[in-house]
Amino acid sequence: MTVSIDWENLGFEYRQLPFRYISVYKDGAWDDGKLSEDAILHLSEASPALHYGQQAFEGLKAYRTKDGSVQLFRPDENAKRLQRTADRMLMPQVPTEKFVEACKAVVKANEEFVPPYGTGGTLYLRPLLIGVGDIIGVKPAEEYIFTIFAMPVGNYFKGGLAPTNFLIQGDFDRAAPHGTGAAKVGGNYAASLLPGKVAKSQGFSDVIYLDPATHTKIEEVGSANFFGITKDNEFITPLSLSILPSITKYSLLYLAEHRLGLKPVEGDVYITELDKFVEAGACGTAAVISPIGGVQYQDKLHIFYSETEVGPITRRLYDELTGIQFGDIEAPEGWIVKVD
Ligand SMILES: *Cc1c(COP(=O)(O)O)cnc(C)c1O
Repeated sequence: MTVSIDWENLGFEYRQLPFRYISVYKDGAWDDGKLSEDAILHLSEASPALHYGQQAFEGLKAYRTKDGSVQLFRPDENAKRLQRTADRMLMPQVPTEKFVEACKAVVKANEEFVPPYGTGGTLYLRPLLIGVGDIIGVKPAEEYIFTIFAMPVGNYFKGGLAPTNFLIQGDFDRAAPHGTGAAKVGGNYAASLLPGKVAKSQGFSDVIYLDPATHTKIEEVGSANFFGITKDNEFITPLSLSILPSITKYSLLYLAEHRLGLKPVEGDVYITELDKFVEAGACGTAAVISPIGGVQYQDKLHIFYSETEVGPITRRLYDELTGIQFGDIEAPEGWIVKVD
């Protein structure tokens, strides 16, 4: 089969590919799992995932390298995060090996949809863990479905490496101080749809949320973590129990220190102290690194580096990270998993 896709102009949209992985948890154990050609999930109308949000998801990418091979970036970290989310939602853990092997199987089965090297496109994997079965009371499911589907994607935010503006939101939170903000669950996103719509209707890329307890500190973008670079070459990201711990963010903290010689800091980012940043960005698997041009807070637009140009340190971080992901730059030990 030859695939005709405009690889250079992929956005972030669902596209049904031939194969997905599916495994079922029943009677206290996972089955072996299999590839399936059925893109429709079959589940009880009483499933806890549908009524009470007992579910979790992940997101990671497969990258085509210059020599034509395909590789994953830190999939074991996604497996571990899904395990932590599963613990929080009283769901069974998917073992790391099962998770990583399933990712590889889905990529291999859909290999012709991994965008060519040099187009900027990647194959996005979406693992999903949901509580299913005939349970209508408020309690955890006894049966679960773990599935992974894939789709070729390009840029998540329209600008790519061009800066865009974000709206700092003080009226809505995406998560509660001791709620599920650190778990990758759909409920946090459900809470973010309305503020996200308001921000987009005003021309912003997305919302930046404040810490839900005091509304004085930047937490994160609705679907990506925040970072800023100070005049003194510090790479600062917020630290909070209600932020989703981004694997991209922790990778950048490492690369900032070991490859760029910056000082990595996880700490408070007060909205009254934005002047100390000379550059800022949003980071995540889907967003990669999206430079933040400016942030609107109440009636003031604060510009970091420029509304039209990416700052030099942000660009170096982007080049280092994507160079590693696409196999052009040597990766720190254990970061790359080949799909053979
Ligand atoms: C998935 C996600 C991120 C990014 O995490 P990565 O591991 O870097 O992809 C950031 N914020 C939220 C709310 C997320 O769900």
